[in-house]
Amino acid sequence: MLFRLFSLVLFLILAAVAASWLARQPGELRLEWLDWRVEIRTSLAVAILVTLAAFLVFADRLWRRLLSLPGWFGSSLRHRRDAAGHRALTLGLMAVSAGEPGEAKRQATRAQRLLKSAPQLTDLLSAQAAHLAGDKRAAGRYFRSLTSSDDTAFLGYIGLARLAHEDNRPDDALAAARQALDLKPKSALAAAQVLSLEAARGNWAAAAPALDVVIAARDPANSTDLARLQRQKTVIAYLQGKVIIEGDGGKASFGKADVKRALRQLETALAADPGFWPGVLLVAGYYRDAGNKRKAGKLLEAGFRAMPQTALADMMRDLWDVNDGAYVAKLMKLVSGMQGDTAGDAASIAAAAALAAGIDGEAKALLARIDDAEKDVTAWQLLARLAEMNEDAAGVAAALRSAGDAPRPRSWQCQSCHVMSNEWHSHCRNCDLFATLDWRRPEHVTPLAIEADVNRETGAGATPATTDATGN
Ligand SMILES: [Zn+2]
Repeated sequence: MLFRLFSLVLFLILAAVAASWLARQPGELRLEWLDWRVEIRTSLAVAILVTLAAFLVFADRLWRRLLSLPGWFGSSLRHRRDAAGHRALTLGLMAVSAGEPGEAKRQATRAQRLLKSAPQLTDLLSAQAAHLAGDKRAAGRYFRSLTSSDDTAFLGYIGLARLAHEDNRPDDALAAARQALDLKPKSALAAAQVLSLEAARGNWAAAAPALDVVIAARDPANSTDLARLQRQKTVIAYLQGKVIIEGDGGKASFGKADVKRALRQLETALAADPGFWPGVLLVAGYYRDAGNKRKAGKLLEAGFRAMPQTALADMMRDLWDVNDGAYVAKLMKLVSGMQGDTAGDAASIAAAAALAAGIDGEAKALLARIDDAEKDVTAWQLLARLAEMNEDAAGVAAALRSAGDAPRPRSWQCQSCHVMSNEWHSHCRNCDLFATLDWRRPEHVTPLAIEADVNRETGAGATPATTDATGN
């Protein structure tokens, strides 16, 4: 702008110089037209012509610039509004991720006002900000507006499902999650929502395919995740199978093909996750009742080797249909082939059976197989009983003392909230998560609680029991 003004002044000076030079030149110009007659000096005529031409050019330029001014002004303003809008959007998203509802809401309002060109973006920010601030009504409105555009519909339904879930509206949550899964059938996020909602209502047939989507999208490097998903698969196969194999009180009738399919699914799941002993009991029980004792026995033995459990041993005893001595002998044979962490549990169970049958020697031999460091409360209690039978008071006291510091026996414990339960449930009674109960030695229980429980149990001389924080 300044440069142009400068060149204009320079041009005027040059023109004046040229004009004064021309004025000093000799010569006349005479113009006659109708009754008009003009006589001027040629130099002046040239100067007038040049000035007139220059003025015309200048006037033309000025006119064009004036015409284009509103457009230039408008586009510059729009540019600045967009930049400010994007800045508000960025700051708003940062506030959302930092969990700052007030700032998020302020920036979302700014972005809504400034950025008219990207309504999906500003709606998403407004939804997140409203959600963060606890304004579920506004969040719902924005999430719903996202569902109207193809690009953002998926996110809109996911947001609506989450809102409905938080509002304890499971039907709405499921409908929205299903819409999201329909839009993106391979989305683990949508499938996980459908899985949890269908599992909560016990609709195992609908939960199973959703779980398959989650498994297909899993991170193969994460083995903990894999074990958790496999357990969910086993649990769904178990719960589906339970209804079909045991019948559901005549509400629905299942054909032979249904039973066969349910058994196959559960057996496949158990092959990958053999430690889920309620599943083993269910399948083995079916084959026992169907007269296939061989198959039932094989399943029980495999299940017992993977996870030694008294209920499995009891069913084996029924199947084998032998006297106490032969039962203990068969159990001992099974135990002798076992290694690792579960071998101690198996030896304890066999020792308890031997003690109950009055075969003290075998019980002692079985308990001696377990390293002292690995003996749990149950093992020490059996040793105390052995000592008591031998009237060895010092031995009883020593065994009970050791029991005080020993690992607790296995029980159902939620892998998420660590609350323990005497019975298996599909959902944790404390945190309500699906398929999180694991048959294990208690972890993450405060030492105080362990000590108190052990003292109570050993002091009363009762059979080992697990605490149940839920009171069930
Ligand atoms: Zn839990």
